[in-house]
Amino acid sequence: MEKIVLTGFMGTGKTAVGRCLARRLDLPFYDLDAIIEARAGRPITQIFREEGEPVFRAFEAEAAAATRPLRDCVLATGGGAILRAENVSAFREGGVVVGLTASPEAILARVGEGDARPLLAGGDPRARVAALLAAREPAYARADLRVNTTDLDPEAVAARIADWLAERHRGGAAAGGSGEVEVSLPGGAYRIQVGPGLLGRTGERLAALNLGPRAAVVTDEGVPSAHVGAVLDGLRSAGLTAETIAVPAGEESKSLQQVSGLYERFVGAGLDRGSVVLALGGGVVGDLAGYAAATFLRGLPLVHLPTTLLAQVDSSVGGKVGVNLPRGKNLVGAFHQPRLVLADVAALATLPLREFRSGLAEVVKYGVIADPGLFELLDREADRLAPGAADLLAPIVTRCCRVKAHVVALDERERGWRAILNFGHTVGHAVEAAAGYGALTHGEAVAIGMAAAARLSRARGLCPRADLDRLLRLLDRLGLPQRSPVPAERVLPYLAVDKKGRGGVPRFVLTRGIADVTLAPIHEEGDVRKALETTA
Ligand code: NAD
Repeated sequence: MEKIVLTGFMGTGKTAVGRCLARRLDLPFYDLDAIIEARAGRPITQIFREEGEPVFRAFEAEAAAATRPLRDCVLATGGGAILRAENVSAFREGGVVVGLTASPEAILARVGEGDARPLLAGGDPRARVAALLAAREPAYARADLRVNTTDLDPEAVAARIADWLAERHRGGAAAGGSGEVEVSLPGGAYRIQVGPGLLGRTGERLAALNLGPRAAVVTDEGVPSAHVGAVLDGLRSAGLTAETIAVPAGEESKSLQQVSGLYERFVGAGLDRGSVVLALGGGVVGDLAGYAAATFLRGLPLVHLPTTLLAQVDSSVGGKVGVNLPRGKNLVGAFHQPRLVLADVAALATLPLREFRSGLAEVVKYGVIADPGLFELLDREADRLAPGAADLLAPIVTRCCRVKAHVVALDERERGWRAILNFGHTVGHAVEAAAGYGALTHGEAVAIGMAAAARLSRARGLCPRADLDRLLRLLDRLGLPQRSPVPAERVLPYLAVDKKGRGGVPRFVLTRGIADVTLAPIHEEGDVRKALETTA
C-alpha cells in the first residue's frame, strides 16, 4: 500500500487520527513533528521562539524529503508542511494526501489559547485561525480526500479514511505483513524477503540478481548443518560455486583477527569483484561477514541470510556492519547495504528458546515505537509464539523489518530520530554490563530496559497506566524479565557512559503509550533509580 499522509490545520486531529488509522490498517505510524524535534534536539515551540519560522520550515522540508521512498505507513505532518510544493511532491511519491479540516471553534477548543502553538502566539487567536485557514485553503483543497473532523472522534475519522482507501484498493493489494519489504536508501535499494523455506532458494534469488558465480558462505559453528546444507544445495542447483567458512560461535568471533582470517579464505577461494559474500547465521555472523565484505577488494556484494530472530528483525536491516576491539563493542565498522536479505522464518525452529525470546524483546520494541497493530498481534498471540510457529512469525518479522527500514530511511544520517530504535536500550545496556556480560541475554536486558523506560514515562505523567500495564503483561507472557537482577546503584554508573547520550546526559526514549515515543534527556538520576526499583 502507498503511504498515507495526513495533513491539515493544527487541532484537526492528525496525530490522534493517524494512530487510530495505523491500527486499523495494520501499518506503522510516524509523526513528522516528532522527527523534526528529534533532529533539532528541542521542541518545535522552542525552534519557533529562538530561530523563527524559516528555520523550522527548513527542518520540515528535510524531514518531508526523507519520506519520499516510504510506503506502507501512516504519516502525520504539521499543518504548514503542505504549503511547499517540494514537500507535497515527496508526500505524493507513492503516497496519498488526506486533508483534515475542522471549524475554527473546534480548532480553538482543541488547541487551547496558550502559547503551545507558536503560529497562534500574539494577537487575537480566533482572528489568527480564521486568517490562516483562509490562506491555506487552496493548498489543503488539493488533498486526495478531505474529512471534516468537527463532530467526529478520531476513531470515526479513521474509519472514514479506511473505507475510502478500501474503495480505492478494491481488488488491489491489501496492507499488513506482505512478506516483502523494500528498503530504499541513497546507499542502495534492496529487498527483504520473509517466509518459510527461503534458505533453499538462495541460489535462484542470487541468479535473478546476477550475483555470483562464486560465493563465500560465512557462518558459525552453532548454525545447524541443515541450514547450511539447504543454502549450499540451492547454490549448486543454480550453478554457483561456494566456499563455506565457519567461525566459532559467539561474540568473540566479531574480531579483527577473524576478519583477517576471512580475507585469507576469500583470497584462497579466488573471490573477485563479481563474487558475493553470504552471511548465514545470527547478528555476529552478519556483522563480521558484512564487515569483511565491505572492505575486501574495496567492497563485495553482500547478502544476509539471518537465522536468529534478532538478526531477522534487527541486525540484517540498516546496513551497519562491524567488529569489536578489546576496548569495546562495535568500535570498528562501516555502512554496507546488502543486495538482498532472505529471512527464512522456518530456520528459527531450531533456535534455543532463550535465544528466541531474546529476539522477541526487539519485536515488542517495534510495536511500542511505531506499530500499534503489531503490539496487538503480539498481545493476541503471545501464547502461540514459538520458534516453530512460522505462519505467525512471517508477518511479525515482516512488520519489524518494515519499521526498521522506515526509521532508517527517515533518519539515514543518524541525526536524532533513529534513536527511537534504542527504546529500552539505554537502561538495557547498563543492566547488561552491570550484571556481567553473559549473565543476561541482550534481549532480556532490553526487556528490563523497556520496562524501566515505560515506568519512567509513567512517573513523568507521559504514559497512561493502562499502556504500562499492557507492556509489562506482554513481556511477562513472552517469558521476558522486567526487573533488574542487580541493584540500581550498580546499574547507574553505566548509564552515564552510554555513547548515545549527549554531553554525558543520557537521552531516553520515553513512551506516551503504544506506538508513541519521544526523546528526552534525563537529568535526574533519582528518576531512573526509582524506575529500576519500582515493582509495579
Ligand atoms: P549470535 O549471532 O551470536 O547467534 C546466537 C547463537 O545462535 C549462536 O551460537 C549461533 O550459532 C546460533 N544460531 C544461529 N542461528 C541458529 C538457528 N537457526 N538455530 C539454532 N542456533 C542458531 O547472536 P544474535 O543475537 O543473533 O546477534 C547478536 C549480535 O548482533 C551482536 O554482536 C550485536 O552487536 C549484533 N547486532 C548488530 C546490529 C546491526 O545493526 N548490525 C543490530 C543488533 C545487534
